[in-house]
Amino acid sequence: MILHVDMDAFFASIEQAINPRLKGKPLIVGSRGSKMHTVVCAASYEAKHLGIHSGMPSRDAFNICPNLEFVTADQAKYIWTSEQIFELLKGFNSPLNYASIDEFQMDLTGIKNAVSLGKEVKLQIYANFNITASVGIAKNWLLAKLASKLNKPDGLTLINDENFEETLRVTPLNKLCGMGGKNGQIFMNQGLKTCWDLYLNLPEFINNNPGKFEENPGKSSESPKSVSHSYTLPRVEINPRVIQAWIRLLSEMVGVRLRQQNLVCRTVNLYLSGSEIGSLGAQKTSQITTNDSYEIYSKCLKIMAKMSLKRPKIRALGVSVSQLNQADSSLLLIEEKQRESLTRAFDLINGRFGEGTIYPAITSFTR
Ligand SMILES: [Mg+2]
Repeated sequence: MILHVDMDAFFASIEQAINPRLKGKPLIVGSRGSKMHTVVCAASYEAKHLGIHSGMPSRDAFNICPNLEFVTADQAKYIWTSEQIFELLKGFNSPLNYASIDEFQMDLTGIKNAVSLGKEVKLQIYANFNITASVGIAKNWLLAKLASKLNKPDGLTLINDENFEETLRVTPLNKLCGMGGKNGQIFMNQGLKTCWDLYLNLPEFINNNPGKFEENPGKSSESPKSVSHSYTLPRVEINPRVIQAWIRLLSEMVGVRLRQQNLVCRTVNLYLSGSEIGSLGAQKTSQITTNDSYEIYSKCLKIMAKMSLKRPKIRALGVSVSQLNQADSSLLLIEEKQRESLTRAFDLINGRFGEGTIYPAITSFTR
């Protein structure tokens, strides 16, 4: 089982914990000091209940609530608190992962009572930092993360075999990590409304998310020769946006698996099939290795462009990567190191503010 910890309104809660005058009040944390000319980067639950949310211009927030409390964001303070929470969680002696500045994952393999451990995690965080966390427990990280969102704030949610179907049936697809942005919207428009609909269509997206932790990098006995994901569409598809959205999703699934196994690839393969085009496969190999989902996706688009198909009718598609090696960041060129820290910053921002908050311009034409 995986346990996912998601801090509740993290930045705003820290400010309220430090300054008791702010407790119980609607509060926003702004990304810049000028309170009317910034963007809400966190809102306390008191503010959220009024309809104020992160990403909103602060002026709009003040229109909703003129006596809103305002604090300028102090990144150093939030990072320090995040690191202290990580140290505290280490004390539970389970493999531990940093998912984002306010999210952590623990591998509970071999632990009997995951729920009571989850309660203990919440208690200790509250006792030490005077802020609350929501905890989700499930068989993989994707479902554990989803579970942590279902009873916020101060929630503790278990998804197990008994409640798996009923939970997924009542949970909108866009609650699922990776389905929050415009890509998720495209799938919703295709008729996949709930997480259960996605599970019926693409069970491996929900199932194949083993929690992988960095405790033993490179220790896995044998590296796979390739990693691939494919999908047969419910009907023939001609809309390029939908086709690209599927390639994007499959690239994401492949990229996640590479990163979980600390691997990089040199070759990207795209496979397409349909009654008119038959089965088409082509690949692109480059000297520079990657495990970046966007990189894999954009290589797929280049491969597809080279196939020069005119509005192909697609029934099935697949993305696979091969020529795999262990990732070794010490070998990266300076530019690649910069790109790696850029990806980390992306993950941090998207982890904090929601999927798709920041994205490479190249994908904007799928939106
Ligand atoms: Mg959070």
